[in-house]
Amino acid sequence: MTRKKNCRTSRKSLPCRECGAECCRYMAIEIDTPKTKREYDDIRWYLLHEDVNVFIDHENAWHVELRARCRSLTDHHQCREYDTRPQICRDHGWPVGTCEHFASPYKARFSRPEEYERYLDRKKIDWRYKRRPKPEGK
Ligand code: SF4
Ligand code: SF4
Repeated sequence: MTRKKNCRTSRKSLPCRECGAECCRYMAIEIDTPKTKREYDDIRWYLLHEDVNVFIDHENAWHVELRARCRSLTDHHQCREYDTRPQICRDHGWPVGTCEHFASPYKARFSRPEEYERYLDRKKIDWRYKRRPKPEGK
């Protein structure tokens, strides 16, 4: 399942004009909850990339968050494609009060591998691979 956060700049019941289109500046894709060492390690790899975060929402679902501004967002925080914007944009924020302008979607959020590793350690999750020692002379 995927999710992308979005906006409705012309619906007057949402405070989109004041919020600066927070939801048009990133996209988030839900991922499987990691359970294996490989899955924990893959998330470390995501976090090695700039402008990529991983977060857990209040329903304990995991997401990769890509900090990438939508190409349709104008400098005045409006949607260039308003009439043909994707359905996910139309759905986001309804009912009023459910979007990130009102409450943080993050139960936990990691921007760097070290933050994530500390989280796993606190949870006593055995995520580390046993690394083979380098052969002598290398
Ligand atoms: S975050 Fe909420 S209030 Fe802000 S633009 Fe998006 S839907 Fe509108
Ligand atoms: S298409 Fe429009 S509503 Fe959707 S993310 Fe882009 S600017 Fe926002």
